Amino acid sequence: MVPEPAAPKAASSDGTIIAHMPQAILPILTNMLVAVMFIGAFLVIAQTYPMVRRARWFALSYTFGVLDPLANLGIWLGGNVAVMQAVGFIGFLAALVTMALALSHYHRRRPMWAIAIAILVSGCIWRIATIDAPRDAIWYQLSFQSWFALGSALCAAALRRHAPPSLLNRCLVAVFIVTALHFWAKAAFAITLGTGATEEDFAGTIYAVISQTSSGLLMIAAGLLVVASFLHSVVRATQTEALSDPLTGLPNRRAFDRWLDAAQDDDMQLPLSVAIIDVDHFKRFNDRFGHAVGDEVLREVAACIERHRPSAGRAARLGGEEFVLLLRLERCMALLVVESIRLAIAQLAYKDTDAITVSIGMATMEKGETTSELLRRADRALYRAKAAGRDRCEVDIPDEEVVSSVARPALKVVARH
Ligand code: GH3
Ligand code: MG
Ligand code: MG
Repeated sequence: MVPEPAAPKAASSDGTIIAHMPQAILPILTNMLVAVMFIGAFLVIAQTYPMVRRARWFALSYTFGVLDPLANLGIWLGGNVAVMQAVGFIGFLAALVTMALALSHYHRRRPMWAIAIAILVSGCIWRIATIDAPRDAIWYQLSFQSWFALGSALCAAALRRHAPPSLLNRCLVAVFIVTALHFWAKAAFAITLGTGATEEDFAGTIYAVISQTSSGLLMIAAGLLVVASFLHSVVRATQTEALSDPLTGLPNRRAFDRWLDAAQDDDMQLPLSVAIIDVDHFKRFNDRFGHAVGDEVLREVAACIERHRPSAGRAARLGGEEFVLLLRLERCMALLVVESIRLAIAQLAYKDTDAITVSIGMATMEKGETTSELLRRADRALYRAKAAGRDRCEVDIPDEEVVSSVARPALKVVARH
């Protein structure tokens, strides 16, 4: 039987509302306010950082979540018990299911819609069918909590299937597994401690305090980890942006300087060769065919360097029409790679324009040498390649050694004097 709407117990006595407030009202109010704060935080994050606009889904999840404490409050204030019971249950289950959908959506994967809808719809049917069930029955408490455990398990499953296995995501999976287990533990607590003779008595029980506090804490933990995950994505994207060249997509000068610093820090890691690649007469090319065609050529050259660099090597755009290659190869092998890149670029046919050629200056690190000295030598070799007629690769060698195995007409090995 559906109980009559309760008289607003809080206001009915001779004292103040506070004096007669059931003990669980405080955690219920706290949970409501915390959920509202998370809704605000997710909306602000979505508005501030367009790349995490999907944060709005999490705001929706916490909006459903607010319905549970709101319904508990409604019962205390004399609202229709059956309606409030249904609203609270469905709201909280919808919150968990939406959280699972939001997690998949956030990681740009197709959410598990069918399972989510199945859990939500069958949960709603169960709630309506059991609205008059005896509240202290074991089967009732176990099945009541199992729906929430199922919702939490769906969140953990969505993360396991769709999120990269980062430390943050692993923590989030752990939080949802603990949340699922805590719902079953709550069923045991509910039987042991009692949930009150009627729904209106619920807020006055010690079980209600434990239930609201534990679920509230776990929802805060999940919310904080999700916020941390957003901020992590924003920071990572900003870092990637700061280290890459927008025109070609290659790492930029800043990234290259970091690689050099890292190489300097671990100077035992020889061999290390550096090749500076400069497009020949690019200004002339730009003047003749226009800046837009020039840009397209720079993209083609960058892609060609990327295609031909060894996987252990790194390429960056230093600026303008100048690129750099960092190779963990000794001189002869590095020269082979660099020559193959020069010849590949010479094969690039861009529409009806002239052939694109590059001049390359290369140097291989000597023991005890600094990276800035190495770079200076590569730059000097480039200068010589330009002076000698362009479309060639020159190598700076500190002694008189001559590399002859890969000598080609356009390849010069320069000894430092
Ligand atoms: P050299 O063979 O001696 O290297 O001659 P160059 O004309 O290639 O060299 P210079 O340094 O005189 O000119 C480089 C040109 O590169 C000038 C500039 O207009 C052009 N440039 C620099 N950055 C860009 C860019 O992002 N896009 C385009 N289209 N052109 C650029
Ligand atoms: Mg040039
Ligand atoms: Mg230049």
